[in-house]
Amino acid sequence: MTLKAGVVAVQGDVSEHAEAVRRAAEAHDRDIEVLEVRDSGTVPDCDFLSMPGGESTTISGLLHSEGIAEEIVAHVEAGKPVLATCAGLIVAATDAGDDRVENLGLADVTVERNAFGRQKDSFEAPLDVAGLDDPFPAVFIRAPLISEVGEDVEVLAEWDGRPVAIRDGPVVGTSFHPELTPDSRLHGLAFFENDAAERPVPDQ
Ligand code: GLN
Repeated sequence: MTLKAGVVAVQGDVSEHAEAVRRAAEAHDRDIEVLEVRDSGTVPDCDFLSMPGGESTTISGLLHSEGIAEEIVAHVEAGKPVLATCAGLIVAATDAGDDRVENLGLADVTVERNAFGRQKDSFEAPLDVAGLDDPFPAVFIRAPLISEVGEDVEVLAEWDGRPVAIRDGPVVGTSFHPELTPDSRLHGLAFFENDAAERPVPDQ
């Protein structure tokens, strides 16, 4: 069975996510087809979905104007996995404290945009992530701070005492960019190992 892996492609680092999900699928011995989501009508076909980084004001506006936003909400309501990274997490959050972002409320978190500084303050750090055996090389670029988490939200990783990776049921969100390293374990965790989500394929 070939799984359909959607990558939200209205703006942002789309090809990197497509590659990361291909590597994760290979590591989990699954066949996938990547679908780039630019219009409404694609998300309902997807077994799981990546929401890349980029510019959250632009991404959220386009998702609403193209009629994709409500399809993503329905995808999560059906328990299907989502990995939302950086700007993707800002869009997926309940509140970003910024009227220019039209939040989807997929994960019960409040975020603060650009809280780790500007582009020049970007950094990479080895991060302990719940569910991964070895530290993950996390790349932070104008990353959001997760300032509040709801009571059903699991914090998967912290940096400097602040949450930077969370899971809320089928949704895994990261402040950093797992798609910018060759390491695809976070995509694997979000799509193939998340017990809180509808498994895209039954365990074999
Ligand atoms: N700062 C960007 C925003 O608020 C996110 C940056 C990123 O995705 N690398 O949309």
